[in-house]
Amino acid sequence: MKTITEPERKTPVVEDMDVIVAGGGISGVAAAVAAARSGADVLLVERNGFLGGVATAGLMASIGNRFFADGGRLVVRGIALETVERLVDRGGTSAGWRSPLVPKIPFDPEVFKLILLEMVDEADVRLYLHTIVADAVVSGGGVKGLILESKSGREVVLGKAVVDATGDADVAARAGAPFSYEPPGSNSLEFRMANVDLQKTYEYFKEEPERYPSDVDAPRSFEEFERNWLENGFFYYPHGGGRKPGSNIAILVERALERGDFSKDMGIITGLDAFGMDGLAWNNTVIINSNFSRIDDLDVREASKAEVAARKACFYIAEFLRKYVPGFERAFIVETAPNLGVRVTRRIKGEYTLTKEERDKSAKFDDVIGVGSTGFPGTPFEIPYRCIIPKGMEGLLVASGKSASTEPRGLLRGMTHCILLGQAAGTATALAAKTATLPREVNIKELQRTLLKQDVYLGDEDRLRELGLLPQV
Ligand SMILES: Cc1cc2nc3c(=O)[nH]c(=O)nc-3n(C[C@H](O)[C@H](O)[C@H](O)COP(=O)(O)OP(=O)(O)OC[C@H]3O[C@@H](n4cnc5c(N)ncnc54)[C@H](O)[C@@H]3O)c2cc1C
Repeated sequence: MKTITEPERKTPVVEDMDVIVAGGGISGVAAAVAAARSGADVLLVERNGFLGGVATAGLMASIGNRFFADGGRLVVRGIALETVERLVDRGGTSAGWRSPLVPKIPFDPEVFKLILLEMVDEADVRLYLHTIVADAVVSGGGVKGLILESKSGREVVLGKAVVDATGDADVAARAGAPFSYEPPGSNSLEFRMANVDLQKTYEYFKEEPERYPSDVDAPRSFEEFERNWLENGFFYYPHGGGRKPGSNIAILVERALERGDFSKDMGIITGLDAFGMDGLAWNNTVIINSNFSRIDDLDVREASKAEVAARKACFYIAEFLRKYVPGFERAFIVETAPNLGVRVTRRIKGEYTLTKEERDKSAKFDDVIGVGSTGFPGTPFEIPYRCIIPKGMEGLLVASGKSASTEPRGLLRGMTHCILLGQAAGTATALAAKTATLPREVNIKELQRTLLKQDVYLGDEDRLRELGLLPQV
């Protein structure tokens, strides 16, 4: 490939912080807020003009309810719980979410943008929006800061510790930390339709409840869907339900195919019949998760083509819904997601790799920094600190569940787990800055005690005793 040599230049250093967080998705917000609440000076850098990442820019406005485990015990608390409660207080979702019988928590993405900004603001986090993290400043085997590009030019920010919450492990990759990346991944461009008569759609599904798709995704039965619609105003259609033979929407897809009104793929888009839906009764809107492309998401040329194809596909799908699905007759697209929703790209090679087997058998780790849940509700499992520490790289932690060291990749990519990791990464880097240690060398008991004070759940009393976090009886 032809190359040029860029001239050497002097780049101004514009900040010298305790902690810098790259990426303002839910992981990055949790990291920045946790670090600032732990007393650190924090800078949060985000390429969009608002916060939330996939949850807002990707319009994936529905949190998988992995708050509960063991038949109803609330195991995910801390900033994750606070975030959903703030959504409730602002009218962004229903208070009825507080139940293990709720599979997903749909929310209003505009309210979500607002509460994330409020949290960051209240914690006194310095915020750079519209700013790309272009490179890492590395010296002596550690990350010392970031090189930023924005309308203000190319600038350097220095930090005692850096959190990579870009979701693509951009900082880790630029810094030279080990990672793996196995394209193609998958992405979807979500869109939101307004003026949907969701009650009518519910009544249509009720005519043949056995046709409501089960066991493809949450919710897993018509009864689960109906209860949530009637009690909480949450509307769901399981992702992939539109291609389950004999399901309510699959039948309509077949009819449209016969008439030449629908196709199952469009150019590089596949899975037009996926039809994941998350809606809210009180504003008659529904978010549609219904197109996939499988590309190298880190190749800007492929990603650009996918974006064009997906934007066209949204209108194509909306036309089908208007014409065929009862309740959608007068619906219209009120918003397409600003960004393609990318599921997973790079994951770091961490000091430890958490496996699915360990998750499923609730393996125990002395360096536990959070407890997740496998489902709705599921089994609790511990997340070790070492899976967010890049192997052999100092000064850096990753906060996104998309890029943590797990097998398979993306094991922790659900939103609750991303927030958990963010809170732990932020608290750890603040502690490292305060005690002038490297993040990998922070006193793990001190980190765990600080997380407990922040209402993070690390286990029941017996487990806390075992970990030495409660006195023996
Ligand atoms: C289509 C789809 C459907 C999903 N469905 C669900 C679901 O139903 N329930 C659920 O719980 N989870 C779901 N997920 C997973 C979940 O939404 C995401 O994994 C999670 O929101 C990721 O949050 P994050 O903050 O770690 O990363 P991201 O949301 O990717 O945030 C990264 C942030 O960093 C910014 N950024 C990236 N690179 C740079 C850079 N170089 N410089 C500056 N800023 C940068 C981005 O703009 C973004 O704001 C879904 C994901 C997708 C894509």
